[in-house]
Amino acid sequence: MIATLLVGMLCVHLLCFAVMFLLISRRLEGDRMGMEVFALGNLMLGGAYVLQLLEGAPGWGWMSVANHTLTLCAPVAYCVGGVRFFGRSAPLLRPLLAVALGYGALQVLAQWVWGPVGRYALLAATCAVLFAGMVLVLVRGMRNFARDLRGEMVLFVCLISGISMLNAMKFAKLLGGGLEALSMDSQFQMVFYVYMCSLATILPPLIVWLVLRRMSDALRSTAARDPLTQLLNRRGLDAALNTHFRRRAGTAHLLLIDIDHFKRINDTHGHHIGDAVLCGVADALRGAVRKGDLVCRLGGEEFVAICVESDGASALHVAERVRSTIAGQAMLQETRGDGVYCTVTIGVSHGFNKQAALEHAMQQADAALYRGKDAGRNRIELHRG
Ligand code: GH3
Ligand code: MG
Ligand code: MG
Repeated sequence: MIATLLVGMLCVHLLCFAVMFLLISRRLEGDRMGMEVFALGNLMLGGAYVLQLLEGAPGWGWMSVANHTLTLCAPVAYCVGGVRFFGRSAPLLRPLLAVALGYGALQVLAQWVWGPVGRYALLAATCAVLFAGMVLVLVRGMRNFARDLRGEMVLFVCLISGISMLNAMKFAKLLGGGLEALSMDSQFQMVFYVYMCSLATILPPLIVWLVLRRMSDALRSTAARDPLTQLLNRRGLDAALNTHFRRRAGTAHLLLIDIDHFKRINDTHGHHIGDAVLCGVADALRGAVRKGDLVCRLGGEEFVAICVESDGASALHVAERVRSTIAGQAMLQETRGDGVYCTVTIGVSHGFNKQAALEHAMQQADAALYRGKDAGRNRIELHRG
């Protein structure tokens, strides 16, 4: 009786969260982060448990075959949802159809060769292996695609390991004690359904939390970056420098970089080519600074590079690398015609070692930059004074 009640609760949980995932996926335009597939997974698992309730005692019939097939298709859908959550494309219909048809046929074979115990044992063993595979993928993911979600992944790994182990135990019990092991009121089944109910309560909010985290991270990144070049914008630079100075002491130097006669590029080639040149300069800048330095587009054709933990000589060295890299290569290769070249003038501030001094460093670099412009452009000037 209690086990039946638990399975009923499990159905309600799974189906309610299927609706919630679907609603969330409809609100997410473009990248749905796999939410529609998680909804389908919940729908299939919820459907499987509904069939189990309708079916009553384990037996051989279409409901039981459909129940086992849906039980196995659900984790496949969760895997596809997970792959899509991490921004990779993954087909859904074909793998689901292949698993549904393949497992349907396998069930008939198992029933024929080993009888009902064999068919139920096959489901438990397949689930155990599938969930163990999921755990392995997540453990590997912590080192690459899910590095920023380590805590959440550890929780997923623990919870999913539990399902894998319970299925492995169910497999062993079926082999040892036959279908009696599946009696709804046996202690093992009770533990199994309590665990599944707990998962159905914990996992969906955890998935919603992951989606919220991804969305807020994306918003923060959008607010901190220049949409054209993807370099930091002024707000992003402030935040990044603040974080840097909180973690490390040491002197930084600010390079203010302004493209020479950029208006001419726009006037000669058009605004869209001007935009492409800005992207080319941004790429050259990224490549010329040192690891850990901060690069920002202030606006228009002005960029800032902050050489962290630098002395005057090393900052001038980076500035020279920036200047010569940009002057030495085409910032854009037009499909028909020559490359588009440009030069930059760079003003370098004195060293500073706190966030509050950023504005002052900017003024120093600006004064030096304008001396560089007056002196003929394509050059580097260090602040005097
Ligand atoms: P100088 O060597 O003295 O710096 O001359 P300049 O032509 O580079 O400087 P000026 O300030 O006269 O012109 C900057 C130009 O940059 C004017 C503006 O149309 C252009 N500009 C600003 N933002 C953008 C942008 O986002 N895209 C493009 N294509 N052009 C831009
Ligand atoms: Mg300019
Ligand atoms: Mg300018």
